Amino acid sequence: MKDADAPDGEALAEAAAVANIPTLIPVLVQLTGDLGWLEPPYAPSRPRGLDDNDDGGLPESVQGEIRDAARAALKRWAATGGIAIPEPDEALLVRMLSVAMGEPIPAEYGAMLKAGLGLSREAPPETRLRGRAPEGFRAVVIGSGMSGLCAAVRLKAAGIPFTVLEAGDDVGGTWRENRYPGAGVDTPNHLYSFSFQPHDWRHYFSLQPEIEAYFRRVAEDQGVLEHVRFRTRATTARFDEEACRWRVETEAGETFDADLLVSAVGVLNLPKVPPIPGLESFPGPAFHTAEWPEGLALAGKRVAVVGNGASAMQIVPAIADEVASLTVHARSKQWAAPFPQFRKAVPEPVRRLLMEVPLYQAWYRQRLAWAFNDKLHSSLQKDPDWDRPERSLNAQNEAHRRVFEAYVKAELGERQDLLPKVLPDYPPFGKRMLLDNGWYRTVARPHVELFDERLAEVRGATLVSESGEAREADVLVLATGFRATAFLASLDVVGRGGRRLADEWGEGDARAHLGTFVPGYPNLVTLLGPNVGLGHGGSVIAPVEAQMDLVLSALEGTFAAGARAVDVKAEAHAAYNAKVDAAHDRMVWTHPGTDNWYRNEAGRVVAITPWRHDDWWRMTRRPDLTEFELLGAG
Ligand code: NAP
Repeated sequence: MKDADAPDGEALAEAAAVANIPTLIPVLVQLTGDLGWLEPPYAPSRPRGLDDNDDGGLPESVQGEIRDAARAALKRWAATGGIAIPEPDEALLVRMLSVAMGEPIPAEYGAMLKAGLGLSREAPPETRLRGRAPEGFRAVVIGSGMSGLCAAVRLKAAGIPFTVLEAGDDVGGTWRENRYPGAGVDTPNHLYSFSFQPHDWRHYFSLQPEIEAYFRRVAEDQGVLEHVRFRTRATTARFDEEACRWRVETEAGETFDADLLVSAVGVLNLPKVPPIPGLESFPGPAFHTAEWPEGLALAGKRVAVVGNGASAMQIVPAIADEVASLTVHARSKQWAAPFPQFRKAVPEPVRRLLMEVPLYQAWYRQRLAWAFNDKLHSSLQKDPDWDRPERSLNAQNEAHRRVFEAYVKAELGERQDLLPKVLPDYPPFGKRMLLDNGWYRTVARPHVELFDERLAEVRGATLVSESGEAREADVLVLATGFRATAFLASLDVVGRGGRRLADEWGEGDARAHLGTFVPGYPNLVTLLGPNVGLGHGGSVIAPVEAQMDLVLSALEGTFAAGARAVDVKAEAHAAYNAKVDAAHDRMVWTHPGTDNWYRNEAGRVVAITPWRHDDWWRMTRRPDLTEFELLGAG
């Protein structure tokens, strides 16, 4: 029966003409039940770089066959809703993704893939938890950025009352704060979005306003906005051992009691301002990228930028047309990869397909998850027998290096003289990999000057680089990054026995069991905590969603045992962190000659995970409660 809301088969059929072929293949398999689509000549080639591989690298006649079959299958589906293979088993799912990606996907990926496609038979932990919390149990979430919203949505679904404390005046966290010209994602938005709220993205990689609007919409649509207390800065959280509960104090002197305390304070939000001598003498606007002045006019201005990380990579090309001159001070070099979908709009018919055919959306997302989350992981492992460690880590990394080098040379065109100033002297991925927003072409322009050395001194409007070269500027932009290893630095957390988290973690040495639990701090959970972020690429949303699975499963076990709180045992915590450190020792970020914001002063990687996402997904399914002390029973 066709109702008014049923998808328009004709329109979907039309979309098949421009859809992504590697996504159409598994969709066709499921819709028709014909496994022949997984065989030659239909198997797409392996995409090069980060391109979406829309034509699958296939001859036009084969593309035509696939599109014709997809047209017919989508029309049939729109009319009947029938799916020939509604629940492929894990082995078939892995085979389908392998064909769609043009490379073998590890067999272990099957379980996560099944869940990601919504095929898991297991009820999510919030469903299992509903109605199980002890009387009066409530949560406080600190922060309403991506992680805080994720926690809020999941707690609401679990039926646990909660309040979100937000220091700012709106939701969105880092996407509300970072408003500099050109700010946007470098992970595709169909992956960089919550699994529970797909969105009709207009671009493959959106700019800040669309992303901020997405998070606001999530807060509204999921009914969590009314639980957020804005302009409420939490300053202290103290564990009351007798009551087995946290007491959170705010800057304004209010207090909130919490049986579960969710830290969602973010990682990239404490600006790092370099101690440049004379900085305060600069007469014009001088500011960090996260504090871009609203309405700042740059037309005809001489602008200087310090730093060349992800923020600078976006700002410099975005403002170059407007300014009179641009000086960039980059004390080290960065690898940046070609960015084929930069500012590319999603074609209208494809948007329709993504929003109206859940199967297409799910497979498109799973392709991105492999391409952006884990495909690289194996290439980032050190090869102890590799004989050119100053260039690369292993054969695959060397191949990446050659591709990137050739790309940089091509982008510089006639300005090959700039090559020594931009070509890194460490292996690719030794710092967070950047996507080229037009950086090389911009620094090659006549009114742009790149100093491959630090800004040594500011003397009023005169900026002096390390070699003594001086340039005048009207505006000074500090694209100098964030204190990413200073976890929870904005909050004074006092746990059992009056122990302070700040003392325990010291300067930048945060550790947590599964990135989430710290011994001595019962029912404190650290979303996007130590060693949870991603260095090998991709969307941090999925790891945080997995953390909430872990937290809710832990509560389920806790309540089932008649307790109210869990405190991870020191041995389990130490053993997990030893595994994390050992895994990082095998990876690119600890390679000699690399330096990045993932590591603390002692060189230990603190900010990011060493795990592939499917490993993380498995680790966060259900906690082993023998590794925890259960508190508050009876
Ligand atoms: P960043 O990657 O840490 O880069 C900071 C830059 O400032 C580097 O070039 C750094 O040089 C330089 N710097 C730092 N301290 C300095 C000092 N004392 N003197 C001179 N130079 C100094 O920071 P970011 O660009 O703000 O990006 C941070 C992270 O935010 C990114 O890695 C990414 O995870 C996220 N981000 C993402 C996007 C996106 O999705 N497109 C955009 C922006 C930010 P060294 O390299 O030598 O330290």
